[in-house]
Amino acid sequence: MAERIPLIVANWKTNKKVAEVYDFLQEIQGKLPDANKVKVGIAAQDIYLHEMVKQSKELKLPVSVIAENVHWADEGSYTGETSPAALADIEVSGSIIGHYERRKMFKETNGSVGLKVTASLRNGLIPIVAIAEDTTRYNPDDEDMAPLTEIAVGLAGVDRQRAENIVIAYEPAWAIGAAETPSLEVIEHAARVIRKSLAILFSQEVADKIRIQYGGSATPENSKDILGLEDIDGLLIGRASLEPTAFLSMVNDAI
Ligand code: PEP
Repeated sequence: MAERIPLIVANWKTNKKVAEVYDFLQEIQGKLPDANKVKVGIAAQDIYLHEMVKQSKELKLPVSVIAENVHWADEGSYTGETSPAALADIEVSGSIIGHYERRKMFKETNGSVGLKVTASLRNGLIPIVAIAEDTTRYNPDDEDMAPLTEIAVGLAGVDRQRAENIVIAYEPAWAIGAAETPSLEVIEHAARVIRKSLAILFSQEVADKIRIQYGGSATPENSKDILGLEDIDGLLIGRASLEPTAFLSMVNDAI
């Protein structure tokens, strides 16, 4: 089976002022583990990304800078959007795509997710595809859980040759910004179902290479147990990633 180096990603969303971004990067300098053991990414607002790439180089941080969203066209008349080609040009490493908050508040669909994933892969960006599971459909006993539809529809047109670079973030909608996470059994079951559906869509070989993260109220208190699950290869962390000590502790739990 393919070795999947865990990937821990901070999802800062629409938080932090520029001085706080600098402080955070300085605070984690020299404290991150070997990138051969765990990969680390920080997703932030577009306005900070170019400077974060430069700062990460200067501070020698083994950190990938990630966008919160990306458009599907490399260039053109799409006022207000950020193109994947522009992100690649400033050495951003990837983008979160289809986060539940974007699906819910900005009407993102599996169709637009698919276009963005394809555009990201075409530009050498890592797409972190967030698979939400909304409360109304949540049923841990159901083998055909909701994530399957999002994977099947959202990733249907993706080129199999590049698919191994996709990262899936399993984020039950009801656990985002909440007080609770699902049980370890539910997370492991969901990740297994997701990997099975990736194998059907692409191939078992490709599915075994794709990293599946867990996201939704991950904290330093529960991260070690979640990261210990066989099919979980990392975390997408919201609130707990805003504070460097908590974030570093969760990064180290992935080793
Ligand atoms: C998220 O929304 O991606 C997330 C993981 O948020 P939180 O950890 O705050 O629940």
